[in-house]
Amino acid sequence: MTGVLTIVGLGPGDPRYLTPAASEALASATDIVGYGPYVDRVSERPGLRRHASDNRVELDRARFALDLAAKGAHVAVVSGGDPGVFAMAAAVFEAVENGDPSWRGLDIRVEPGITAMLAAAARVGAPLGGDFCAMSLSDNLKPWEVVASRLRAAVSADFVVALYNPISSARPWQLGAAFEIVSETRGPDTPIVLARAVGRPDERTRIVRLAEVEAAMADMSTLVIIGASTTRLIERPDSATPYVYTPRFYGVRP
Ligand code: SAH
Repeated sequence: MTGVLTIVGLGPGDPRYLTPAASEALASATDIVGYGPYVDRVSERPGLRRHASDNRVELDRARFALDLAAKGAHVAVVSGGDPGVFAMAAAVFEAVENGDPSWRGLDIRVEPGITAMLAAAARVGAPLGGDFCAMSLSDNLKPWEVVASRLRAAVSADFVVALYNPISSARPWQLGAAFEIVSETRGPDTPIVLARAVGRPDERTRIVRLAEVEAAMADMSTLVIIGASTTRLIERPDSATPYVYTPRFYGVRP
């Protein structure tokens, strides 16, 4: 049997957001590898081996999956959201580049998923309608100076900025520092979207002004969207949640 390794995006949480192609990759797998809560999202069935690990060992997990595939298994490495966005796909290719040369001959595929940024944006309207960028605020894998200078540049360039990995118990201060950097350039009324656990039963999404936002409003399951200077709120009757959007038209015809 020839091994196959597919890195599968499970989407943000709602099973209806799993693509049919991702479902097929899971259905044909002999082995599921991933962080425990993601492995738990794949139903058990006879003959399917499940290998759950904790979240801090991405490269080890990638090598383990490649080794299984090299022995002939059909391996699905699972990630939340999209596997190419701050997730396992890059770890697998890093392991391939630096690992056993025979791994380069494996059939490695990536099945995309709906990333948290897109699911969060869809909940509130169209905040990503103009130009935007995405950053991971985690300084586990890159120095904080890089995060800070990149965020400053993105905000100065007036991108909408989506922040993944905004805060955790091991990284308690970075999000507050990020809001301070944003406040150097953006006005106090800038809309900030805090979308927590989108697509899961404990989902909660709120929209606040930059002047009012606090790091404590986010946790490690939150995706933060920082509006550009052009991002707008549409107020609605009966104190319904406003819509947030960023117009595509910049005010001047090119
Ligand atoms: N590969 C994932 C991102 C992994 S990084 C994706 O494409 O979505 C982990 C971060 O993603 C979390 O800290 C949080 O910022 C964000 N995230 C993941 N799932 C989320 C969800 N259901 N709702 C809101 N944010 C989520």
